[in-house]
Amino acid sequence: MRWSCIFILLLIEFLPMSAHAQEECPDLIEQAEMIAAQRDVDAALGQAMGLEALQRLMHDDRHCPVAEALLLRAVAANEHILGDYPQALERIDAALELIDDVHDPAVDAQVHLTAGVVNWAMERHDAAIAHYLASLESSRQAGDQVGVGRAAGNIGNLYSSLGRLEQAREYHQKALVEFEAADWKAGLAGTHVNLSALAGRLARRAEQDDDTAAARSEYSTMLDHARRALAYFESLDNPRGIAYGLTNVATALDGLGRPEDALEYHERAVSIQREIGDEVGQQQTLINMADALQRLGRPDEALELLRQVADRLPEDSVGLALDVVSRKVVLAEELSAYRQALAYQRELTDLRQRSIENRMAARVDEVSGEMEAMQRQQELERLRTESEIADLKLRRQQAVTALAVVVAVLLLGLLGAVYARYRLGLRVTRRLHVAASTDPLTGLPNRREMLDRLHEAEKDCISNGTHHALILADIDDFKQINDQLGHSAGDRVMERLAEVFSQAVKGRDLVARWGGEEFLFLLPETGLKGARSVAENLRRAVVESPMRHNGEEINLTLTAGVSVLQSGISVEEAIRRADDAMYQGKANGKNRVEVDRSAQSDSEAP
Ligand code: GH3
Ligand code: MG
Ligand code: MG
Repeated sequence: MRWSCIFILLLIEFLPMSAHAQEECPDLIEQAEMIAAQRDVDAALGQAMGLEALQRLMHDDRHCPVAEALLLRAVAANEHILGDYPQALERIDAALELIDDVHDPAVDAQVHLTAGVVNWAMERHDAAIAHYLASLESSRQAGDQVGVGRAAGNIGNLYSSLGRLEQAREYHQKALVEFEAADWKAGLAGTHVNLSALAGRLARRAEQDDDTAAARSEYSTMLDHARRALAYFESLDNPRGIAYGLTNVATALDGLGRPEDALEYHERAVSIQREIGDEVGQQQTLINMADALQRLGRPDEALELLRQVADRLPEDSVGLALDVVSRKVVLAEELSAYRQALAYQRELTDLRQRSIENRMAARVDEVSGEMEAMQRQQELERLRTESEIADLKLRRQQAVTALAVVVAVLLLGLLGAVYARYRLGLRVTRRLHVAASTDPLTGLPNRREMLDRLHEAEKDCISNGTHHALILADIDDFKQINDQLGHSAGDRVMERLAEVFSQAVKGRDLVARWGGEEFLFLLPETGLKGARSVAENLRRAVVESPMRHNGEEINLTLTAGVSVLQSGISVEEAIRRADDAMYQGKANGKNRVEVDRSAQSDSEAP
C-alpha cells in the first residue's frame, strides 16, 4: 500500500533526548541525529558518514554507549533506505545490545522504533511488532506522546500490510489520540492519510461482499479522514501530502457515487503532481481520472487521457502499459471505434507477448541461477564423497592396525604360553632328572649319579693325567640298630648320617648313597694321603655326632676303604679296591680307615 510506505518515512523522525543521554558525548549524539536525517537526502552518504563516525569513536577510545548505539541506529536507518536489510539488522541488533544496560527510555524508544522498521523490511513481522510495542512503552515512560503515537502508527501500518485491517485501524486511532494531545500536525496529517486509505480498502471489501451500506459508510469515513489530512497538509504547506489528500478525497467521492466532484479533486491533484515532478503519481491520477470520466459517460475524454499516459510510460513498465491499453480497448469499443479497438487489441497482444517474454527471461535467469546452485551442490557432493572415501580409507587403515595389534598380542600370549610350557617342561625335566639321580631317603646323589661322575672323572684321568680318590664307607653293625630300634629308627639314623656327610664334604667333593648303609665319596684331584685324612675326618665326625632315639644314645661308627682312580685304573677297579680296603678295615676290627694296598705300592699318589 503506497500510503503506508509514505507514512513510515514520516514517522521516523527524531525524539528529544533525555538529559542522561545528552550528558554523555553530546557532540556524537547530535551527529547521530544529523546522520539519521541524511537518510531522506542521500542514504549512501549517510551510511558512509555514520561508519566514519563509528570508526572515529573506536579510534578515540571514548566510552559513549548511548552515542554509539544511536550512531549504529542512524547507519541502520540509512541502510534500510539503501535496501541493505541484513546489514541494517546486524547494526540495529548491536545497538540494542549496547542500550541494554543504559535504561534510558528515550533512547530505547528510538532504537526499538528503527529495529521495528528493519525487522519489518526483513519480513520478521512478530519481531517488528515486539520492537514497536517496546518503543511505544518506552515512549510512554519518557512521557513522549509523539513517540507513543509514532510507534502505534507503525504497528497500524504493519497490520495493514498484513491485511489485518481492523487491528490496523485500532492502532492508527491510538496514534491519532496521542498526536492530537501533542498537537503534532505532521503526525496528524499522516495518520489521517493512513485511516483514510484503510477505510478505502474496507469499503472495497464491503463492495465485494455486496454490502452496499457498509461500503457507503466506509467511503464516508475515508472522505472524512482524507479531508482532515488535506487540511493538515495545507497548513503544513506540504505539496506532496496535499496531492495525496486530494487523491484520497477524489477516490472517496468516486466511491460515494460523486464522479463529477471526484474529477475536480483529481484535476487539482494532477496539477500539483505536475508541479513537483511526481511522474508516477501523475500517471496513477490520470488513470483514476479516466475511470471517473468513463463513469460520467465521457469515454472520448477518458481515452484521450489514457493516450497521454501511454505516451509517457517508460519502455519497461509493461504491467502499467497492459492496464492502460486494456482500458483503451474497452473505451474504443464503447465509442464504436472498432478499427481503433482492433489496433489496441493488437497492441495488447504484443504487450502480453512482451510480458510473457519478460517473465520467461526472468525465469531463465532464475533457472540458470538454480542450475548454478545445482552444480555447486554437485561439486559439494563430490567433495563430500571424496572426503568420505578418504575417511573410509583411514578407518580401514586403523582397522588393519588394530588387527595387527590384536594378532601381535595373541602371538605374544601364545609365545608366553609356549615359554611357560617350556619352563614347566624344563622344571619337570629337571625334577625328573633330580628324581632319577637322587636317593629319596637321604636326598644324596644315588648310585647312578655317582657312576656318571666317576666315568667323567675317569675320562679326565685319561686326557689330563689327573688322580681322583674314592672313599667307600660302611656303617658298622647297622643291622643291630634295625633289630633293636626298628626299621624306621634305622631310616632316621640314615637321614642324620647323610646330614653329617653333607656338612663334611667340601668344594668339589661329592658323596653319594652307594647302596644299603654304604656311602661312596669322590674327591677330585686328590691323592691317597689326602683321601685318607678326609676319611679319618669322616669317621671321627660320625663318632662325634651323637644320635638319639627315644632318649637313648646310639653310638655309631663306620669303616672306610680308600682307593685312587687314575689313568690305567678303571672305575670298576677303583671301586673294587676301595671295597677291598673297606673289608680289610672290617676284618681289622671296624671303626677304622684302610687304604688300598696295591695303590700304595704301585703308585705314589701325591
Ligand atoms: P657290618 O658291621 O659287618 O657292616 O655289619 P652290618 O650289620 O652293618 O652289616 P649287614 O650287611 O649284615 O647288614 C646291613 C643292614 O643294614 C641290613 C639292612 O637291613 C640294613 N639296612 C641297609 N639299608 C637300610 C636302610 O635304608 N634303612 C634301614 N633301616 N636299614 C638298612
Ligand atoms: Mg655294615
Ligand atoms: Mg654293609
